[in-house]
Amino acid sequence: MKRRRKRPPKLSGMRPESLMMSYGYRPEDSEGAVKPPVFQTSTFVFRSAEEGKEFFAWAYGLEKRDPEKPMGLIYSRLNNPDLEILEDRLNLWDGAEESAVFGSGMAAISTSLLALVPLGSSVVFSRPVYGGTDYLMEHILPSFGIPTREFPAGGEAALVDKLCRTLAKDGTPCALIFLETPANPTIKLTDIEGCARVAHDHGALCAVDNTFLGPLYQSPFDHGADLVLYSATKYLGGHCDLLAGAALGSSELIEKIKALRTILGTMLDPHSAWLMLRSLETAKLRMTCARKNAERIAAWLLKQPQVSRVHFAGFPEGESQKEIYARQCTGPGGIIAFELVGAGEKEAFRFLNSVRLIKLAVSLGGTESLIEHPASMTHADVPEDEQLAIGITPALVRLSVGIEHPDDIIRDLAFALDQIDAEPGDEVEPELAIPGGGDTA
Ligand SMILES: *Cc1c(COP(=O)(O)O)cnc(C)c1O
Repeated sequence: MKRRRKRPPKLSGMRPESLMMSYGYRPEDSEGAVKPPVFQTSTFVFRSAEEGKEFFAWAYGLEKRDPEKPMGLIYSRLNNPDLEILEDRLNLWDGAEESAVFGSGMAAISTSLLALVPLGSSVVFSRPVYGGTDYLMEHILPSFGIPTREFPAGGEAALVDKLCRTLAKDGTPCALIFLETPANPTIKLTDIEGCARVAHDHGALCAVDNTFLGPLYQSPFDHGADLVLYSATKYLGGHCDLLAGAALGSSELIEKIKALRTILGTMLDPHSAWLMLRSLETAKLRMTCARKNAERIAAWLLKQPQVSRVHFAGFPEGESQKEIYARQCTGPGGIIAFELVGAGEKEAFRFLNSVRLIKLAVSLGGTESLIEHPASMTHADVPEDEQLAIGITPALVRLSVGIEHPDDIIRDLAFALDQIDAEPGDEVEPELAIPGGGDTA
């Protein structure tokens, strides 16, 4: 494959979903193949020793590359065509200058923070955050000499400003404010614009984990964020068949992140990158379907006598959450957390053990609906008093709505809700047993 031109001019100005089948790849460079091949190779042949020398000089920053000259392929830890095409296509969704793809969401988050937060500075983050991120903030960064401070998801920007002032006074100025919005599993929204302003006032960066709503329903760059992070394992990958992550931002930031990615070896592999290219073609279709299904299911859940609370981005609670939703989100996404009336772990488990179509599994954003119990699964390592303080009760379950027919998902939920109070030995509606497996009871 010859080196690709960055922006095929005929296609510029079109929408991302129109470009996912062509952008950044020319079939004539690969035997006319309509799809990019999997470049399953660790290394690349140089045409001459001089060329190899030049590529290395650019890669290691020994010489500045003429922007008109394309960077050459060297070795798949540094670059690979599948990764580059994927990065070019990811840029389109969020309007980023550049992006870097990783072997997982955690690889993207940890590599980015280590690259951008220098020793002697600190990090402020919204809480709750994804469990792996929480561990990074609570244990790994402090063990590297980087203090971290949290604020509650949905908290006012003024509170974040106060934390930054204190950190500056302590001699460890904040270098990065990290937001996860909506928060998992409480679906609390945090004001990106307000936090980005505070970050910039303090000379810090604002990074947003956009896994839950992005790229379709939340565009953090439009609200002042400097860095957008993804677990591409979720909606971007979308089929629960791979792990991947991404960091998007200005060329300046992404180049720093890529330099560390090369050394840590946290990049994505060519085959997963190729699978991601396939996934991106249907990202809008899948996310739209999951969102529509979720809107219908959330409205249905509100009416069920066995359900006491429904947390859904489309149902923001209180004036400030409503205002943030209206300004920041263009749709509610596909994640619903809900509480079962009077339930402890036992009743919640009976409900979870009764789903047939929906799969009892952690993770989210796939074509299949998944359900889990945050208190005992994804958030099990949060101490119980802290769980309760942020709304993770034993009665809470989290549903990632898939692309099945919404009425079938509702039927499955209705059946499982009825099992909460069923007497042991009660007859199970036989037609709900799914042929060929899916029986989780
Ligand atoms: C899953 C997830 C992560 C971690 O991603 P992996 O791909 O599992 O490493 C980070 N943030 C959020 C919001 C997630 O849901």
